[in-house]
Amino acid sequence: MKVKIHSSFLNTKEKSFIKEALTFNIKYLFRKNPKLLDNLNIKLEINPRDSTGIFDQDEADCKGLCFKLTKTRFIVWITNKLINTRAKSIYSKFKEILSYMFHELVHVHQYRTGTLKDNNKSPEYRFNGKKFKIRENEDEYEDEYYARPEEIDAYGREVGLRVRFENYWNEVLKYNYVTARC
Ligand SMILES: [Zn+2]
Repeated sequence: MKVKIHSSFLNTKEKSFIKEALTFNIKYLFRKNPKLLDNLNIKLEINPRDSTGIFDQDEADCKGLCFKLTKTRFIVWITNKLINTRAKSIYSKFKEILSYMFHELVHVHQYRTGTLKDNNKSPEYRFNGKKFKIRENEDEYEDEYYARPEEIDAYGREVGLRVRFENYWNEVLKYNYVTARC
């Protein structure tokens, strides 16, 4: 697995914190199919939207996106606006970034395992083998978006993944170790 963090808002230490959180939970997400991690390539952008170089989608209110480039290559974008610059700890500074990142990693997992299959030419897609359709109706958009099966999966799991990492990180801080064995 290859992970690259791109951000002009993070220093080296912060980048490795984010990378650690990403690795910690992506391994967990793929625990039942770890072979799929072998050639997985994720580029994480924590920058303004245009930094991804992908402009052809109108996602005005969007704060995070998961782009599938190939079967194994993904760009995860999260807006730098979610960084809490007044926070006192590294965890609280990036708490929101982590939530969005874990959410997008669930989409990476859905795409990589084939649970989610988009059709670029139509609003139809498949989730768990079942056909769904993205409805563009503006009035119903919010409700429709949150009711999609792939979003229920992603929103539900982002909370669990964040809590999971938070517990791990608290242990790291408490005992001041990252790894051990006997
Ligand atoms: Zn989503």
